[in-house]
Amino acid sequence: MKAKPVDLCPCGSQRPASACCLPLLDGLRPAATPEALMRSRYVAYVLGNEPYLLRTWAAENRPDSLGLADDTATKWLGLTVHHARQANDREGEVRFTARYKVQGKAHRLTETSRFRLEGEQWVYVDGVIEEA
Ligand SMILES: [Zn+2]
Repeated sequence: MKAKPVDLCPCGSQRPASACCLPLLDGLRPAATPEALMRSRYVAYVLGNEPYLLRTWAAENRPDSLGLADDTATKWLGLTVHHARQANDREGEVRFTARYKVQGKAHRLTETSRFRLEGEQWVYVDGVIEEA
């Protein structure tokens, strides 16, 4: 039998998705750090997993919906995490660049996102996007 190719995680960790972000998306375990949550949310965008994005969004900022199911134009190309810091046990931030294409045109989004620990679950609070 031919070995199945390992599916590397779309978050760019170079680890198999099944040992990286997928268990988080499947609700098998919470993200251990703000960076892990940020990576898993990127993968949720790649896979169009809107419920995961909404459930890991701080309630006060959470949109009603993201319309991901209707968005067939955006193609996610990759993620680079520049740094991740935790101010304390319950707050952290991650600066990253996500690359994507919309109808063949390449875009790049650099954002510093803030995260907060709620119980055992890190949630996305908000982010500041850097103008290109
Ligand atoms: Zn991952």
